[in-house]
Order: sequence, then structure tokens, then C-alpha cells
Amino acid sequence: MTTIAFIGLGNMGNPMAANLVKAGHVVNGFDLIPENLAVAREHGVTVMANALAAVEDADVVITMLPAGKHVLSVYDDIAPKAKQGALFIDSSTIDVDSARKAHAVAKKHGLHSVDAPVSGGTGGAAAGTLTFMAGGAKDAFAKAEPILKPMAGRIVHCGDDGAGQAAKICNNMMLGISMIGVAEAFVLAEKLGLSHQALFDVASTSSGQCWSLTTYCPVPGPVPASPANRDYKPGFAVALMLKDLKLSQEAAQSAGAVTPMGAEAAQLYALFNAQGNGGADFSGIINFLRGTSL
Ligand code: NAD
Repeated sequence: MTTIAFIGLGNMGNPMAANLVKAGHVVNGFDLIPENLAVAREHGVTVMANALAAVEDADVVITMLPAGKHVLSVYDDIAPKAKQGALFIDSSTIDVDSARKAHAVAKKHGLHSVDAPVSGGTGGAAAGTLTFMAGGAKDAFAKAEPILKPMAGRIVHCGDDGAGQAAKICNNMMLGISMIGVAEAFVLAEKLGLSHQALFDVASTSSGQCWSLTTYCPVPGPVPASPANRDYKPGFAVALMLKDLKLSQEAAQSAGAVTPMGAEAAQLYALFNAQGNGGADFSGIINFLRGTSL
């Protein structure tokens, strides 16, 4: 049993914290939104008055916050007051530069730290089957692994500080690009009089095969569980895809990488988002490409 502070009990943080409670840990939680604290309390989380109070007795501190600025501001507040040698795990999806700054803040205060963003969405968070992509020193990762386990289907140590965030945004840049590619192919097939099922049957076992086609197929029918079959309810929302694509472009600029397809995908998702589709599943971009609305 470990005492864990959990800061950021939103759509992802709350079910993740619940799985830590189920695994027998003491979880001291904090969030700025009272409704989220009420849900956490129902899951057996001990609700604290503020982040500092949550961190005081904790051996492990997990943050699940919207963006880099939130993580850095919380780290600046809590790192000086944390137990010596405590482990800080940030599972938010944030920019690589902020992730490295967060590691530096932790180190300055004698803390171990891991960046460990996730994929798997709210469903994976509830089921305890998230994929964690971790960055940080080997000894920090070794301490983090058993803590992450009750929330995880898979845990990959990707490298040093920031490597987890790097893996996350590289993966999601691929995903954004591949979804647009698959959607364009279905739109072309429609114009050519080729049925959705015929294209799916060929491409899903040919060189066009990819996750965007075989798991998240953007047209209803061929993959019954894909969001296209439920009016593009997420799933993985457009606003979150856009966030990750923007992070990939910031990282590309900062690292000097040339990512023209990633840039194009970011622009297309920005337009689709601006039309009021931020809450729809990202596979709904097929309607944007058809020139129709959701
Ligand atoms: P969310 O907005 O539901 O939760 C974030 C929570 O952080 C909110 O409850 C907010 O009140 C809280 N918060 C913000 N500042 C705070 C502070 N200073 N102190 C305490 N609490 C604070 O977002 P989410 O969907 O849970 O996502 C969290 C992170 O996980 C994001 O970085 C997101 O990109 C990433 N992520 C989300 C999904 C998903 O499907 N939702 C999937 C993978 C990764």
C-alpha cells in the first residue's frame, strides 16, 4: 500500500484514481472542480482541501492536467513541499519542452520523476487498460511501473526525460494523418461507385491496412464498434486530436523536424474544429472532406 496524491480528477483522472483505490492504495485527491471531487469521494479517494495538502504525506504524486502550463504551475507549488525522494508521475499530454522543465523542477527538489502520458481514452482509464508511454531515468521508471500497473494494459519505457510525451505526439500525429488518408479514400470510392464494404474488404487485408481503417473505420458498417456507427460520438474527440497535432507541430518546430503531412492534418482538424465539431469523434472528418456537415 502506497500513499498517492492524485491532482487533476477530470474525465481521465477520476477513473484512474478509482483503480488505484481498488488496488489498495491510499489516494489523496485534489481538483479545482467540486463536482469532480464529489465523484472522486464516491470512488474512495480522500478529498483534500488543496494540492499541497494532498502531497504532504504522499510517496507518489500523479498529475492528470489539461496542458503544460497547468503541470508546471502545480509542480512549482508542490515540489518544494513534497516528501524527500517522492516520485512524481505526470500522465497529462503536454508539450515535450514543458515535460522536460517539469523533470528539472522535480530534480531540483530531490524528487524522482517520470512523464507517462497515456492512450486508451476514458474507456481504457475506467477498465484499467491504458497504455503508458514513460520517459525518465531507469530508477524512476522502476519505481513508477508497479504504481502504474493497476491502471495499465501496457507500460513502455521510451527513454529519458520527455520521451513518453515524444512517443505520444509522434503516435497521434500518425493517427491524425492516417485517419484523413482513410477518409479521403472512402470519399473517392463513393465518387467512383465503389461500396464501403468492398473498399474495406480489400484495404483491410492489403497495403492500405491501418488502425484508422480496421478499428475506427470512418464510415458506418464495416466495423460495427467504430464511432461512425453512432453518429460520430467520441471515442476520441476532435478537440483532443487537434491539441495533440498542435503539440506535434510545436515539437517539430522546436526540434527542426520537417512534418508537412502533420502540419496539413493540424490545419484540417483546426478547420473542422472551428465549424463547431470539437466534441465529435475525430473520424467525423470524413464529412468535412465530403463537404457535408455531421
Ligand atoms: P479534464 O479537463 O476532464 O480534466 C482535467 C482536470 O484538471 C479538470 O478536472 C480540472 O479541474 C483539473 N485541473 C486543472 N488545473 C488544476 C489545478 N491547478 N489543480 C487541480 N486540478 C486542476 O481532461 P481529461 O480528459 O481528464 O484529460 C486530462 C489529460 O489527459 C489531458 O492532458 C488530455 O490531453 C489527456 N488525455 C485525455 C484523453 C481523453 O480521452 N480524455 C486521452 C488521453 C490523454
